Parts: sequence; structure tokens; C-alpha cells
Amino acid sequence: MGQILVAGGGASGLMAAVAAARQGAKVTLLEKNKQTGRKLLVTGNGHCNFTNRNQEQGKYRSGSPAFVERALKAFGWEDAVAFFEELGIPARDRDGYLYPASGQAASVADALRLEAGRLKVKMSCNTEILSVEYRDGRFLARTGGWEYEGGALILACGSPAAPETGASGDGYRFAESLGHTVETPLPALTGVYAAEKDCGKLAGVRQEARVVLLVDGQICAEETGEVQFTSYGLSGIPIFQISRYVSRALEQKKTCEICLDLWSGRGSGRMRAVFEKSRQYTKDRSGAGALLGIFPEKLSRVLLERAGISLAKKRGDWTRAEEERLTALIGTFRFTVTRCRGYEQAQVCTGGVPLAELKGITMESDRTPGLYLAGELLDVDGACGGYNLQWAWTSGYLAGRAAAERVVSLC
Ligand SMILES: Cc1cc2nc3c(=O)[nH]c(=O)nc-3n(C[C@H](O)[C@H](O)[C@H](O)COP(=O)(O)OP(=O)(O)OC[C@H]3O[C@@H](n4cnc5c(N)ncnc54)[C@H](O)[C@@H]3O)c2cc1C
Repeated sequence: MGQILVAGGGASGLMAAVAAARQGAKVTLLEKNKQTGRKLLVTGNGHCNFTNRNQEQGKYRSGSPAFVERALKAFGWEDAVAFFEELGIPARDRDGYLYPASGQAASVADALRLEAGRLKVKMSCNTEILSVEYRDGRFLARTGGWEYEGGALILACGSPAAPETGASGDGYRFAESLGHTVETPLPALTGVYAAEKDCGKLAGVRQEARVVLLVDGQICAEETGEVQFTSYGLSGIPIFQISRYVSRALEQKKTCEICLDLWSGRGSGRMRAVFEKSRQYTKDRSGAGALLGIFPEKLSRVLLERAGISLAKKRGDWTRAEEERLTALIGTFRFTVTRCRGYEQAQVCTGGVPLAELKGITMESDRTPGLYLAGELLDVDGACGGYNLQWAWTSGYLAGRAAAERVVSLC
């Protein structure tokens, strides 16, 4: 009865196991991969951006923002930094984005594994849970050959994003079998496909831009940063950040347009001034050369094509109307989004088990006593920049502590 089962040995599951074991609970962690923390290894391009000093509002999306705020107050970025410092991992700060000083994601995964080992957490790898059951106040986790039993179960199976790390939607199935609902999970922090044929001509171009997402014609989200044009559409951090809204809007059969301000909000007046100032000495230039020094060549060509200005026409011969069209286009370079990239290219999922189905920040289920949920399985997704791991640490820590209090008090 005193046993806690942790389903999933990723970021949130490892944290939950450590937090519970530090409270004196007996913990068994079941992980289907041959080693724990596999997704952790690929985070931050192998460097692991494990949290962020900037926790201002709007960094997390969920159905219950106040819940996320409360949870982060209980175990926030400073707590995560202190936790890892105590495990021998000081943080390296890059403009608020925090990484292990070693620069290696493996050190974060190893430190968690070592601490779990020190605390005598039983770690059963190569153990895929096939189903979970709640019977007479006990939890059973069934695997191919074995049944594991516990007085509490922490579900920390993550989301299906990045399936090459072993990720799957199993956790949602387990949560549903124990009475929960699941907000449809969809890929997030990923690139988007665009309908425009000229997208392919821009492949490889990187351009600073203000990115505005229009859903059914209304502004839904805005970001600024370096957009990467690809053969299929748009990518780069600002596109990743808005992709969660794109996924959901398209699922709801709404239209999605991305409008790029290639002059990053500096205004069409400034653009006109740039043209005016250089008019005398650049009047004989044509094609991409006409926009030399303002935009990369491939982008200049597409802009001229979309503005209906012949590539052969010298800049000095552009009509006022043509120049106005071009100036307007630079501020509103539009793409029609057809879909988001799939789970294979997504860093996280948006959707999952609603926070409203938990008993506050104990992370305990309000449907099945003794069941706790943590990590990406829940309907919380963070922005790029360490926020998703912070949520894994926060929810894992709170779930582990509360589960330990429960089993220890029942002993
Ligand atoms: C390429 C990439 C880069 C990223 N970079 C960052 C970053 O720099 N900073 C950041 O904050 N976030 C980053 N993320 C997101 C972050 O990795 C996740 O949000 C976080 O790992 C989620 O933790 P989790 O514990 O919920 O799930 P996971 O870490 O996915 O752990 C879930 C575990 O459960 C196991 N499991 C699943 N089903 C079963 C089953 N049936 N039986 C047994 N075990 C099972 C899985 O094998 C897995 O080990 C990145 C993600 C990707 C894909």
C-alpha cells in the first residue's frame, strides 16, 4: 500500500519520483525506453534550456492560467535552479534562458537518475505499461509480463511530440480509463505549411519580422523574431510560438493567415524614407538589386513579383503606385496556413487533461483518489525558452510531494 508508482521516466516523472522519495515514500518508476530521460537529451539542441528567469504572464497556455500561476509560485524557476544546484548543476544564464553549466542535456538527465538511485527509487526500464486500473483503493499497472501495484499512481507519460524519443499518447488513454477527459492534443512549437506557391522560392531565407497570426481575420497572436522560410512554409522561433494557436484554430475549421511585417513595426513611413534617401544613386538598379541592402536577394525577388513590379524595371522607373504597393507589402507579407507540421517535428503538444479536473496544485485527480498527473500530459503548454521543462519540474515536484504525503499518511 505504501508504494507509489510513477508511469513514465521523463522530466516530470523523474522529478516526481525524486520529490516523493525525499519525503520517505517507496517509489517504483516504470519507463518503456531502455533508459529514463530520453527526450531530455534532445532539449535545447542537446544543451537543455531547463528554465527561464523571465516568467512574465503569457508564457504558458492552458484552460486555467490561474492554476499554472499558483503552481509556479509553489515551485518556480528559482526552485528549479536551486534543485539542480544541489545536484551539482549550476545554471548558465543566457539572457534569462538557463542551461546547465556543462552545456550538456545529458548532465541534467544523469543527475536526476543518480539522485533517484541514491534515494533507492526502483527504476524499471524497458517496461511498457499497457493499461492501468484502480481497484479497491489500489492501482495496478499492467505490462507485458508483470503487474505493478501501488497505493498511488503518478501519470507522467508525456505527449506524442517527438515520437523518435519513445513519446506516445499512452498517458491520455490511461487518464481516460481512470475517468478523465482529454482536450484533443495537437502539435505545437513547430513550423507551418503555407499555400502560397512562391514559398519554395524563399527556402533558406531568414528574416527578422513581426509575425501576426490572423484567425478568421482577427488578430490572435503576435511575436517578433527571425522567421525561417522553408520549401513547405514558415519556421523559426516566432512561428513556433504561434503554432499552438494555429493547430487549434485549424482543428476548429477556422482560417489562419500569417502576416509578416518585414520592417518589424518600424512603419511604412521609415520605409518610404529609405527609398527617398537612396533614390538618386540607385535609380538604375533593377530586380533584386533594387532592394539591395534591405532584404536578401530571394526575398526581394518575391516581393517585387507579388507587388507586380517587373524584375527588369529600373527603380527610377517605378511608378508611385508601384512603390506604394511594395511599401504596403513589406508591412503585410501574407501567407495562408494550411496545417502545422506533425508530431515528428513538434517539440510539444497543446491540449491534454484539463487542470480543472485536478484538486488544485496537489495535482491529484478529482476523479480517482490517489491518482496524480504531471508534465505535458496535462493541458498546459509553454512558450519556447525553458517553459515546458519548468512545467515538468513544477508539476512533477508538486505531484511527487502530494503523493508521498498521501501514502505515508495511509501507512
Ligand atoms: C526537440 C525538442 C527540444 C525541446 N527543447 C526544450 C527546451 O530546451 N526547453 C524546454 O523547456 N522544453 C523543451 N522541449 C519540451 C520538453 O522536452 C517536454 O515538454 C518535457 O520533456 C515534457 O516532460 P514530460 O515528463 O511530461 O514528458 P517526457 O519527457 O516525454 O516523458 C514521458 C516519459 O514517459 C514514457 N512513457 C510513455 N508512455 C509510456 C508507457 N506506456 N509505459 C512506460 N513509459 C511510458 C516515455 O518513454 C517518456 O520517457 C523540447 C522538446 C523536443 C522534442
